[in-house]
Amino acid sequence: MSATKQLRKAARIILVGAPGVGKGTQTERLIKKFPQLSAVSSGDLLRENVRRGTPLGLKAEATMKAGSLVPDAMILQLIVSELSSQGWLSPSTTNVDALLASTFSFVNKPTAPSDDPLSSFILDGFPRNVNQASLLDRLVPINCVVNLVTPPSIILHRIANRWIHAPSGRVYNSDFNVPRVPGKDDITGEPLIKRDDDNVETFKARLKTFDETSRPLLEHYEKMGVLWKIEGNSSDEISPKLFQELEKRFG
Ligand code: AMP
Repeated sequence: MSATKQLRKAARIILVGAPGVGKGTQTERLIKKFPQLSAVSSGDLLRENVRRGTPLGLKAEATMKAGSLVPDAMILQLIVSELSSQGWLSPSTTNVDALLASTFSFVNKPTAPSDDPLSSFILDGFPRNVNQASLLDRLVPINCVVNLVTPPSIILHRIANRWIHAPSGRVYNSDFNVPRVPGKDDITGEPLIKRDDDNVETFKARLKTFDETSRPLLEHYEKMGVLWKIEGNSSDEISPKLFQELEKRFG
C-alpha cells in the first residue's frame, strides 16, 4: 500500500454495490489510505448481534439467512446507535421513533455538518433503499455516493472463494487476498469462516433484492448530485480510481 493521504474536508461516503462486489475490501483499503476515515458496516453490525445472540440479532438471523433485508426500523436503530457512539450525531437527531414517525423532512433536520476531516466516515451496506436513504438524509448529509459495478459472473466466482474473520469483519479471498496462514486471520490468528449467506442460492436472492432496491436508491442520490459510478472487474482495478476521486474531492 502506498503512502497515506490527508483529507482536508469531512467526507461522508456511502458505497453502493451488489453483494460480493467488494465493498468491504474497498472500505478496508480506504481506511488505510485515508486514516481520518472510520467505517460502519451494517452487515457487520448485524452479524455481530447475531453472533452475540442479542434480541435484535435473534430477530434478524432468519431474514439474513434468507437473503432478504431486515426491517428499516431495525437497521436504523443499529446505525443510529453506532453513529451516536462515535460522536457523529447530535442528541437531537437520534430519536429514532420520532424519525420513523415523521413524514416531513423539517421534523428531523440534520445539524450543520462538521467540516472537520476527523468527522469523516464511510457507510458500507446502508442505506439499501430509498426509505433508508431519506431517513439518513435527515440524520446526517452524505456528500459522496460511490456506485461500485462488477459483472455478476465475476462476483459469483469471488463469493465461492470468500472467507471472513467474524469478530472483526476482515475479509479474505483464496484467489487474490490470501491470508498469511491458510484459514487463519492475519491479525489474531483466529480461524476464518464462510459466511452463512455465501452460497449460490442465497447469492441469487440477494442479487435480486439488490437489483430491485438499488435503482431508485441511485436515482435518489443522482438527484442530490452526489453520485459517482466506478466500474472494474476486480478490487485492485477499482481501488486506484476510488483513491484518486476522493483526493480530488476531499484532499
Ligand atoms: P451485507 O454484509 O451488507 O451484505 O449484509 C448482510 C445481510 O444483512 C443482508 O443480506 C441483509 O439481510 C442484512 N442487512 C445489511 N444491511 C442492511 C440494510 N441496510 N437494510 C436491511 N438489511 C440489511
